[in-house]
Amino acid sequence: MLKGGAATGTIRTVLGDIPKEQLGFCHSHEHLFIAAGKPAKINSVLQIDDYEKTKDEIQVFHSLGGNAIVDAQPVGCGRMADWLTEVSRQTDIHIIASTGFHKQSFYVEDHWLFRWSEDHLAQFFINEIEDGMYIGADNCEPGTKIHAKAGIIKTAIEEDRPGLTAIRLLNAAAQASLESGVPIMCHTETHRQGVFAAEHFIKHGVSPKNLIICHLDRTLDDYSVHKQLAEYGVYLEYDTIGRYKYHSDEEEADLIVQMLDWGYGKSLLLGLDTTRARLKSYGGEIGLDHLKVNFIPLLREHGVSESSIADMMMNNPSFAFSQKTKR
Ligand SMILES: [Zn+2]
Repeated sequence: MLKGGAATGTIRTVLGDIPKEQLGFCHSHEHLFIAAGKPAKINSVLQIDDYEKTKDEIQVFHSLGGNAIVDAQPVGCGRMADWLTEVSRQTDIHIIASTGFHKQSFYVEDHWLFRWSEDHLAQFFINEIEDGMYIGADNCEPGTKIHAKAGIIKTAIEEDRPGLTAIRLLNAAAQASLESGVPIMCHTETHRQGVFAAEHFIKHGVSPKNLIICHLDRTLDDYSVHKQLAEYGVYLEYDTIGRYKYHSDEEEADLIVQMLDWGYGKSLLLGLDTTRARLKSYGGEIGLDHLKVNFIPLLREHGVSESSIADMMMNNPSFAFSQKTKR
């Protein structure tokens, strides 16, 4: 049997640890800031670097009863840990920041992340969780540290059969999670990758309750994979809401209703996975108000109960993002 995995009761935010009951209404996957750099060279919407605009967006979220946001941009590829800390202080919103790694294409060639050993990476991730995050580490080795700490380990899979570098990074993340107790969040691009991620981390001893698998709702053609992953006990993160190039919000609601009918309401997390192109304060059409103003009312129209909404927006994030007992 797996050891560990019980919630310890605290969540590590950029302003310090909070009791998990204080998290409140939470978006489980957003990008509040992304510095100019490699991600934006690949896709210009991946540059979110106007402090006041992001702050305005968060203030609207706060005025609607929003309480907490998970920022899913990890160290070394545009994370702005100092701004996350400052904007959390100024807006009174809990922000959980990410150490770990993203898709390999988001890093400059010969990035330190690809050169370091598994143990070195694991110790570095733990250091960001237990001591403080580094800033300015996109184009050079980490040197400058701030007091704010990371609260999750972001990871990414972008191939159905991850290569050696990807496996080394995934294993470093597993090691860091086992030693620190903080959860792992994993970017995936196909259902097969979602299953691979869950199975790989569980095999390495990570409790399924400390695993959050992202983007599972990008394709809605096969609900069976959702069922399979929920049975593993991992968190399924639905963050393709208001992303109409993938599907409509009605289709998203149908998936959620089915998962609730199957009894998996305790496994779901919601977010918008925002980019510059969508955020209203940057000129887009989907703001951080979209869940509150549009999508949750749509869920109610589909017959979703208030207690299921409270689970997806408050109770599940409160458990998913809390530190768990160590192995
Ligand atoms: Zn994302």
